[in-house]
Amino acid sequence: MITYRELVNALRELGLDGTQPAIAHVSLSAFGDVQGGAQTVVGALLSVTNGLIMPTFTYKTMITPESGPPDNGITYGSNSDANRLAEFYTEDMPADPLMGIVAETLRQHPQAQRSQHPIYSFSGVDAENAIIAQTLAEPFAPVRVLAESRGVILLLGVDHTANTSIHYGEQLAGRKQFIRWALTPKGVLECPRWPGCSYGFNAIASETENHTIKSQIGAALMQCIPLPMLIKTVVELIHRNPLALLCKRSSCERCRAARHRI
Ligand SMILES: [Zn+2]
Repeated sequence: MITYRELVNALRELGLDGTQPAIAHVSLSAFGDVQGGAQTVVGALLSVTNGLIMPTFTYKTMITPESGPPDNGITYGSNSDANRLAEFYTEDMPADPLMGIVAETLRQHPQAQRSQHPIYSFSGVDAENAIIAQTLAEPFAPVRVLAESRGVILLLGVDHTANTSIHYGEQLAGRKQFIRWALTPKGVLECPRWPGCSYGFNAIASETENHTIKSQIGAALMQCIPLPMLIKTVVELIHRNPLALLCKRSSCERCRAARHRI
């Protein structure tokens, strides 16, 4: 059983001394048993960071229209079942289960704020600047603000396929972006600057290895990666090799569209 104290100590081994803001991606089940569960992890993260955000995305607001702009990495009219199940975005909609219970627990924290994107919202504590920076036109603004504050990325029991900040680097590098749609009380909202897929993101690991601090707790590998370095590395990598970080699945419409443009 992992205790709060053990967790804080392991996080400090990552170089966290309470002065840096962080964006965290956490799989609680990867840790094994944690005394107090997700609440303990959130408490430990808040105690070693100076502002914490996590993605609390809500994919069930998404709908696929019958038609739309070409070359958009999507099959129009293909998702009528999901469209029927789509829900209006509301501020208190729980994070998608894919985000993990720790992100949802952070969202429910009494001091938490949540940004307003109907699909790509972030929740944070002591991170108001990052949270309020997000707009529909700039979905990854919270990542930009954190990078400007010399923030770090924490991958706790997850790999780079969960590393949302890589998407921001892809945008800066000029990689093809997409459009998606969300159901809101004001109608269907167009969400521009939708990123590509993250299946191929583990290829970044060898590029960022020298700047990554690792520690282990229970069964989980924990990694701390400086955010400005990661973004710079992604941009340089894509400029060097425009196909970098794309996945190899033949069924992947977004990676195919990104390749097609190159
Ligand atoms: Zn892909």
